[in-house]
Amino acid sequence: MTVLTPDRCSINTATLGYKAPIGQVIDAVARHGFGAIAPWRREIEGSDVCAIARHIRDAGLAVSGYCRSSAIPADTPERRRAQYEENCRAISDAAELGAACFVIVAGGLPTDSRDLDGARTQVEDGLARLLEEARRLRVALAIEPLHPMYAADRCCINTLSQALDICDRLDPDGEGGIGVAIDAYHVWWDPRLRSDIDRAGCSQRIAAFHICDWLVPTTDLLMDRGMIGDGVIDLSSMLRGIAAAGFAGHAEIEIFSNNWWAVESEEVLRSCAERVGAI
Ligand code: ZN
Repeated sequence: MTVLTPDRCSINTATLGYKAPIGQVIDAVARHGFGAIAPWRREIEGSDVCAIARHIRDAGLAVSGYCRSSAIPADTPERRRAQYEENCRAISDAAELGAACFVIVAGGLPTDSRDLDGARTQVEDGLARLLEEARRLRVALAIEPLHPMYAADRCCINTLSQALDICDRLDPDGEGGIGVAIDAYHVWWDPRLRSDIDRAGCSQRIAAFHICDWLVPTTDLLMDRGMIGDGVIDLSSMLRGIAAAGFAGHAEIEIFSNNWWAVESEEVLRSCAERVGAI
């Protein structure tokens, strides 16, 4: 997998800015030669999930992941329970879609809390419960560590080491059902990245690999991701490491960007297809 071609790649639909209905997005992704798609709940929930799953299959696409979990920590037991139930419903949709994984963006601090350790404990306890549901429905949970700049509001799991430690505690015997989503944007800076990728490979925990680029300067914490090749991430070296670690899934292109969202979707897909070949 060290030379990427579009058929070895997936388009995370966030890359296209949710501007078109999911049916059109599926057709466009297939037309540009990509091998998979990763839809978001906002495009699926409230629709006929079974029909969307069939459309994806008929277009010849795999589903590299289903995005993404509701936050796990909450300030009250009632809210925590409601979020758990949302996540269970989403796992069921992920199963219906045939998704390779359900992406877990764990959530940050509950409202008015400064208890980061407590939030992390809530995440682990919540994941233990979700893992039972995921195993029952045969969907892998993919814990996605997010860059530490999001620890407060989006995700208090911030390094690959931390995510892998959780996997090892919740699945000590390697039964499976839980792994990690390695997103280049979130982990490229980590001095332990190479050894953690090897560790994830040894325990067969790599459930997803997300790619984009880190722009210098970055002007928005969320909406200024770069097109592959426009920034400073050594994607080539990461790709080699991930492949050597045994990951055989699709490399998923996920670019949240005000700039790219202003570009016509056909042009974005053309650029993605061109750039992956140059990694
Ligand atoms: Zn990601």
